[in-house]
Order: sequence, then structure tokens, then C-alpha cells
Amino acid sequence: MKEIILVKYGEIALKGLNKNTFEDMLTKNIKRRIKSLGKFVCTRAQSTLYITPEDDSTDLQEAVNRISKIFGIAALCRACVCEKDFSDIREKSYEYLSEILTYAKTFKVTAKRSDKAFPMKSPEICMELGGALLEKFPHLTVDVKNPEVTVTVEIRDTNAYIHAENIKGAGGLPVGSSGKAMLLLSGGIDSPVAGWMMAKRGVHIAAIHYVSPPYTSDRAQLKVEQLCEKLTDYCGGIAFYCVPFTELQEAIKDNCPEEFFTIIMRRLMMEIAQRIAADDGCLALITGESVGQVASQTMAAIGCTDAVCRMPVFRPLIGMDKTEIIEIARKIDTFETSTLPYEDCCTVFTPKHPKVRPLLADIEKAQNSFDFEPLIKKAVENTEMKVFNFSR
Ligand code: ATP
Ligand code: MG
Repeated sequence: MKEIILVKYGEIALKGLNKNTFEDMLTKNIKRRIKSLGKFVCTRAQSTLYITPEDDSTDLQEAVNRISKIFGIAALCRACVCEKDFSDIREKSYEYLSEILTYAKTFKVTAKRSDKAFPMKSPEICMELGGALLEKFPHLTVDVKNPEVTVTVEIRDTNAYIHAENIKGAGGLPVGSSGKAMLLLSGGIDSPVAGWMMAKRGVHIAAIHYVSPPYTSDRAQLKVEQLCEKLTDYCGGIAFYCVPFTELQEAIKDNCPEEFFTIIMRRLMMEIAQRIAADDGCLALITGESVGQVASQTMAAIGCTDAVCRMPVFRPLIGMDKTEIIEIARKIDTFETSTLPYEDCCTVFTPKHPKVRPLLADIEKAQNSFDFEPLIKKAVENTEMKVFNFSR
């Protein structure tokens, strides 16, 4: 029996003239992700991708697991390839569905006939196959409203397919279809989730991280690198920029009023991020901020941070509660890594009483009392980049 993976598009199906570009990107993203599992042929027709392994021993379940994390997909499933002939469909379904039907109590059959030349109409296929399966597995009963197993028969261009599972895809748009943006990635819970959310909208992510040795440890950086690696399951390859931030933080501490430390630090982070982002072809910055979460995330504070930004800043978590963010972090498997207890540069020199409603004029005056430009240039020059890709 030949088995393949059927992948159904989500939003891409609604794209007009650009649809091909989106399909190409999705196909490329899928191929790249499953390449290490073996050789596959990918063809497409009627808003569906057919992923056929060249070798029967390929681990299709692992391929399905990986593809289920790729953006741009509404649903996917493993399916058995049949001749467009009812007796072949019936015989193959006995064998292909044997395990799942043996353990189920109720089922129903649905049919989709996109090839209208097929001699049986959909209701007839359902009746005939339903009857045959009932005879073969007499413990089953039909439940059209709430069946344990839905057997689907699809009559398409070259073949018919049967399957009994429909896995929800990750939704969104293929990564890369919306251009590239720079994610400010800390070791915390929020920013990996923010990156995942923008990748879902087709944004290719690069990541930037600020370290302040000796105040922050190597392990803190390793933790962020580990987060990057985890994100590649969803985001594909990620260029990771690591910025030495110690001198800038010390300069803030030595030259600015304590209550403004955090805001000025965030303004410098943004300044550095947008320079590196522009060089890398990014069109926007992404942060994990959420209104009111901490003093530097009040609307006034965000306004002061934004004032230095020359490119759009996306904050996909802006209206979310921490519990909602944590739910996603668990789902995408970044939560445990994010909660490892290593110090981030944000917690170095934190003011006892940060200004929650800072005035831009005050912040600018405080920041202008020292010439940060040479240190900014030096930090950008000494930034190190490495690329993360799928670890499997
Ligand atoms: P997170 O959970 O993402 O760390 P947070 O709630 O701890 O967020 P802050 O520490 O105020 O909030 O940081 C706000 C945002 O600034 C982060 O979501 C991230 O985008 C960025 N950021 C903070 N620290 C760093 C860092 N060391 N390197 C890169 N970006 C950072
Ligand atoms: Mg943080």
C-alpha cells in the first residue's frame, strides 16, 4: 500500500494572482523541513500539496509532526493512495483502516469527488463504503453526528485517497512571504512567543540578543540560543546577532538619572537593533512587550522607546495577558527553556523606582547629557552573528 501526506492550504487558497508565489514558498519550506527524513516528491493541485515519499521506509509520522508546525497550512493527513476504482478503494480501506476501526465503536464515511467524471456520486460512495466497512467490522455502528472516526474518501485528478485523520495545521502564511523582521529576543517567556506569532503571519525572523558580561553569564546566552533553535521548527533558519552591551549599560549607570535607566537602555537597544536590522534587510522590529506588564511597558514608556525607532515596531503580545502568553509558550515548547533561572541584561542595574510615566523631553535631555554614539558604533561592530537551523 502506498501512503502519502496530503497538505491543504489555509489563507493561501484565497490569494489571487500571487497564489503561485505563496505556494512555491510553502513547498520550499516543507521540503527543507523534511529533507533529513528522506527523498520526497511534492506535487500540487486544487489547493492541496501531495507529498510522496520515494522510499517506503520513510518515517511519515515524523514528517507529519514536522509539517504540522509549518505556517500556511490549514490541515494535513496521511492518506492511502488508491486506483480510481471503487473495489480498489474498498479493498485498500479494509487494510489501511483496520487498526483504527478495530479500536473504534462508531464511524462515518464522507466523500469528496473533485473529479466529476468518477461514476459514483459522493452519497453513493459513502453508502457503499459504509456498508462494506460495517460488514467487515461488525462491532461498529454508524454515527453521522459525532463519530469517533471519520473515514474520508477523496476522488481527485489522478487517484483516489482514503484517510481517517485530519490534523489541524498551524495556520497563517508561509514564512518568508511577508518579508523579514528583527526579533529582540531575551531569555524570557514573551519574546519567543512574539517571534512565533509574527512568523505565523509569514514574517521571516532574524533575532538580536544583548549580553552584559560579566553581569550576565554564558549560560544566559546559551539559553537564548537554545530558544532560537526551538523556534526554527516554526520559523525556519534564524540569523542570531549577539550584541555586547556591558559598556553601554555602564555608561547609562554612570551618566543618567537612575529612574530613567531602563527606558534609556531600551532606547539604545532599539537604536542598535534597527541598524543591524537595516543591514540584514529587515523591514521592522519585533518585541515581546505587553501593555502594563512592567514599568517600561506603560504606554508612556513605550512612547519614549518608540521615539527613537525609524522602522515599524511590531508588538504582537501587546493586548495579551501573561496567562495567554504562557499558554502559547507551552504549546510551542519554549516555556521550560524560558523559565531557566539565568540573569538577563535587563535585570542589571534596574532602578528601585522606575518612572512609569516618563516624559519624552526629560528622557531625551538625560540621554543627551552623554554621547552614546561611539559606544553604539562599537557595540554594532563587535556584534557576532551565527545562523541557527533545524537541529534534526
Ligand atoms: P521577555 O519575557 O520577552 O523577556 P519581559 O516581560 O521580561 O519580556 P522586558 O524585560 O521589559 O519584558 O523586555 C521587553 C522586551 O524587550 C522583550 O520582550 C524583548 O523583546 C526585549 N528584550 C529584553 N531584554 C532583551 C535582551 N537581553 N536581548 C534582546 N531583547 C531583549
Ligand atoms: Mg525579560
